[in-house]
Amino acid sequence: MSSSRYRGRFAPSPTGPLHFGSLVAALGSYLDARAHDGSWLLRMEDVDAPRVMPGAADAILRALEAHGFEWDGEITYQSRRGAVYRAALQALQDQGLVYACACSRKQLAETAKRGIDGYIYRGACRERPPAADAALRLRVPAERIAFDDRVQGRVACDLARESGDFVLKRADGIYAYQLAVVADDAEQGITDIVRGADLLTSTPRQIVLQRYLGLPTPRYAHLPVVLDAAGDKLSKQTLAEPIDPQRPLPALLRALRFLGASDVREVGGLAEFWAQADAAWPVLIRPLRGRRPA
Ligand code: GLU
Repeated sequence: MSSSRYRGRFAPSPTGPLHFGSLVAALGSYLDARAHDGSWLLRMEDVDAPRVMPGAADAILRALEAHGFEWDGEITYQSRRGAVYRAALQALQDQGLVYACACSRKQLAETAKRGIDGYIYRGACRERPPAADAALRLRVPAERIAFDDRVQGRVACDLARESGDFVLKRADGIYAYQLAVVADDAEQGITDIVRGADLLTSTPRQIVLQRYLGLPTPRYAHLPVVLDAAGDKLSKQTLAEPIDPQRPLPALLRALRFLGASDVREVGGLAEFWAQADAAWPVLIRPLRGRRPA
């Protein structure tokens, strides 16, 4: 891996303050960028305006600063990048890959089968005449999409069977996360994506978009997610709680432990924490299990 070119990023959605799960993702992506002497960019994923919480973006930035994260360059705000998403959508439309879908969420919830991530859309509107106020969907290819994740190993997905044609732009005019993230990662020259495994099922959709748009596919590392399932040590209440910018060390140490560091020492300050975390990272970023055949 050429370390001089490494460009990583952290892309929080400002739907609430920074919580422990996003701190883990921030820590992993930041440590990986530092280990490669790379840059680390920050992007506010505020494309879904109705879900944005006023003040959350600033609170996240303050919390990151208080925990000692230092990002490179200007912060990107998705809410200001409509033109970029419009151009990406147009490029897909020009290839005849997009169609309007007037199915309501309610209809789909009642009739569609559950897939890897929500329901499986079987293309009911593919051959229907375009309707006004409809969502726009991408025709997914009938092929298996596979990639090698640095943590999860070989991951493969048959999108047509497991998720179906997915939304690029919602009926309310909002660009979907999948389209925005692919356009942004490419425009920002991101080479390495380190994020939570809750997004693992999104990655094949993003790879399909990259291929259709002629964009490079970054390397991926999907970190274990902080679960709130019953029986897990960490309760939902604990996790949903914002982390305290006044007391950064306990959360950072807990996040480093969560990422698998076994002998985390208590430290007196942030510089000491980051030195410990940098030293631990090369051992933490490794495949979780052996490779599975695709
Ligand atoms: N904005 C997404 C989230 O906060 C992360 C997107 C990504 O890392 O690709 O879950």
